[in-house]
Amino acid sequence: MNRVLVTGGAGLLGSNLCRALLEAGDRVLCLDSFFCSDPKNVDHLRQYEGFEVVRHDVVDPFYAAVDRVYNLACPASPVHYQTNPVHTVKTSVVGMINMLDLAERVGARVLQASTSEVYGDPEVHPQSETYWGNVNPIGPRSCYDEGKRVAETLCFDYARQNDVKVRVVRIFNTYGPGMAPGDGRVVSNFIIQALQGEPITVYGDGGQTRSFCFVDDTVEGLRRLMEGDVMGPINIGNPHELTIRELAKRIIELTGSKSTLENKPIPVDDPVRRRPDISLAQKHLDWSPTTSLDEGLERTIAYFEDLLRRK
Ligand code: NAD
Ligand code: UDP
Repeated sequence: MNRVLVTGGAGLLGSNLCRALLEAGDRVLCLDSFFCSDPKNVDHLRQYEGFEVVRHDVVDPFYAAVDRVYNLACPASPVHYQTNPVHTVKTSVVGMINMLDLAERVGARVLQASTSEVYGDPEVHPQSETYWGNVNPIGPRSCYDEGKRVAETLCFDYARQNDVKVRVVRIFNTYGPGMAPGDGRVVSNFIIQALQGEPITVYGDGGQTRSFCFVDDTVEGLRRLMEGDVMGPINIGNPHELTIRELAKRIIELTGSKSTLENKPIPVDDPVRRRPDISLAQKHLDWSPTTSLDEGLERTIAYFEDLLRRK
């Protein structure tokens, strides 16, 4: 049994990770500022004796006697991380320093939730961990991308300089139950629009690609990395790549919706292609995603149907 701190624990990944850890018998301290999540998202976990929630911003120092720190705190949706870009940078940079300082003080191991965004708008396809990326340092996405890149740097500097045990995972687009309905990411937007019979907002011509991983698969990858022997960085994602237009059509089919597609302007610096090379995760973690896109979408649609019914 471990004592585990999960920052950003009330978000999509955090809430699902907390549940998996509690089911495995760990004690879990869920830390969240609730900047872009609702405390209700973890209400169902309060039945576990080993579960605690604390409202805290990682930008401020934090102390807890723990063995593991999953550092997930950071808005992940472009809409949220661009609302207060300065705070987004602080969350990734100052928050990372605070978590690494905590880990050093109590001898904990830290896993940093990095992102495929460190590859920017990639010129190499698919993206493997050896690629250094093509990132705009001064655009509207930079607060997120560059913040995450510095956070990776800090992890490796604390490992080399202070002997802190770190793990760095580069997560590719992950979706599933636990997503906040209004968070602006593509899967939640499209499913809610389809369920409500509203136009599906496809940015640009929808020819840009993404590769979507179901949250349970991502959580399993994070846990294997944390408990394994490799530091990373290591990609975790589903190599099944599709265009955003194809995703919209699949969601219309699976929901049986009458929604039509509506093209909207493409956001600045929106990456054109994205697909993970997961050879390292397969080799070192014996990990591959096991949930198909249709199965994952069906489970996510059922979750949003339930949310909308209860509203
Ligand atoms: P999410 O937005 O659902 O959850 C993030 C959580 O962090 C929210 O509960 C939010 O309130 C909290 N938070 C934000 N800033 C905070 C702060 N300063 N202090 C404390 N809490 C704060 O996002 P998610 O999809 O669960 O992503 C979790 C982590 O994984 C993030 O760090 C994100 O960058 C990373 N990631 C996610 C994806 C993805 O597709 N889901 C892809 C790459 C990386
Ligand atoms: N997107 C879209 N319509 C939406 C929301 C997003 O077409 O309502 C597109 C967006 O332009 C991007 C892709 O879907 O090309 C994934 O967007 P998301 O914000 O989910 O994640 P990210 O861009 O960070 O991968």
